Amino acid sequence: MSYVDEVIETIIEQNPGEAEFHQALREVMETIRVVVEENEEEYRKNALLERLANPERQIKFRVPWVDDNGQVQVNTGYRVQFNSAIGPYKGGLRFHPSVNIGIIKFLGFEQIFKNSLTGLPIGGGKGGSNFDPKGKSDREVMAFCQSFMTELYRHIGADTDVPAGDIGVGAREVGFLFGQYKRLSNSYEGVLTGKGLTFGGSLARTEATGYGLLYFTNAMLKANDIDIAGKTIAVSGAGNVAIYAIEKAQQLGGKPVTCSDSTGWIYDPEGIDVALLKEVKEVKRERLTAYAEARESAEYHEGKGVWTVKCDIALPCATQNELLLEDAKTLVANGVLAVAEGANMPTTIEATEYLQENNVLFAPGKASNAGGVATSALEMAQNSQRLSWTFEEVDLKLKNIMENIFANVAAAASEYDMDKNYVAGANIAGFKKVVEAMNAQGIV
Ligand code: GLU
Repeated sequence: MSYVDEVIETIIEQNPGEAEFHQALREVMETIRVVVEENEEEYRKNALLERLANPERQIKFRVPWVDDNGQVQVNTGYRVQFNSAIGPYKGGLRFHPSVNIGIIKFLGFEQIFKNSLTGLPIGGGKGGSNFDPKGKSDREVMAFCQSFMTELYRHIGADTDVPAGDIGVGAREVGFLFGQYKRLSNSYEGVLTGKGLTFGGSLARTEATGYGLLYFTNAMLKANDIDIAGKTIAVSGAGNVAIYAIEKAQQLGGKPVTCSDSTGWIYDPEGIDVALLKEVKEVKRERLTAYAEARESAEYHEGKGVWTVKCDIALPCATQNELLLEDAKTLVANGVLAVAEGANMPTTIEATEYLQENNVLFAPGKASNAGGVATSALEMAQNSQRLSWTFEEVDLKLKNIMENIFANVAAAASEYDMDKNYVAGANIAGFKKVVEAMNAQGIV
């Protein structure tokens, strides 16, 4: 059996019940096979793939807090410090009822390669909790965040591990987490990114994942002689990634016509009104029904359905495994030209393969959504310098980073005779740098 197959089998056997982690592992391993097989015995002897697939450290802890009725609640907290070969662990925290160790490990594993692709010195990590901020009062969210940080603070630090936001963790949560870290550690340091602008946050961090997705997508389209101007775009999600993807898509002349949340979706043939979407989601924290009520051209539908809308470009920006094989078939039947992932692993492996077989340009999240974490690394750089850069400076750096990622991903795919296979290109380019650093640092 080949070394790659052996490792896939062993890691899955040793980590039962972690379906999303298995999926992420399989996708990476299958595409880096060509690199490993150039020098299989060397990789096997050094157990490089086992070391890559086993986190350096996994932390799991109890998070007790008191709700507004005086009832004690108990959630589970996680931080997986996956790989520190190229820099301190870096990656967000996700607060969502679906969080379990398999979800955090898939996200942490993806983060290793994503962070490597940014070209910045950041290792891979991820954390979170099965806590659901939805419907909780600000005081309850604060109580939870303070309890969560009371355990986490001993494991993190500006040069050790720097968490940030992800689903369910935005500016409010990062603020509460930062306050508690500072109090416990007696240290004012850039230990979290995505901070508020008055206490060390970076301009353009809020916009970065969505804007970066469009910079990457535009670079990919241009390289394939497609102009984004006038193209109809289907977007899923209505969180931070989706909102700023829609905003930048409009600035580039595209026409986003959909968005979605956990209960339903919007089709707005006139084009999404971003100001209204921000008001509904960022200010009022309401459901998308409120968007439909305020806008005549918008249709609201219950359940899932954005991929049934005829579009040229699809941008899944909600969550993992939201774009299935049948969705891919509908998109292809409707003539889609490109799919670019704003969320982490939103497309299943079967759907990805179907899109690629049908010549749809496909941008994997670990490349196309890397703008968020890249800008987090820029926030870390500003914190270390005790300086703040302007919006234009950060945005320009972000644009350059995303265009470089596209160029490196495309070049890695071509080098291994897989022209335009950006999934393989991203995994190979991300992997090579990390492995070189791991090798240079010996058996650790
Ligand atoms: N959660 C984001 C991601 O998936 C950002 C992480 C960060 O800024 O550290 O990359």
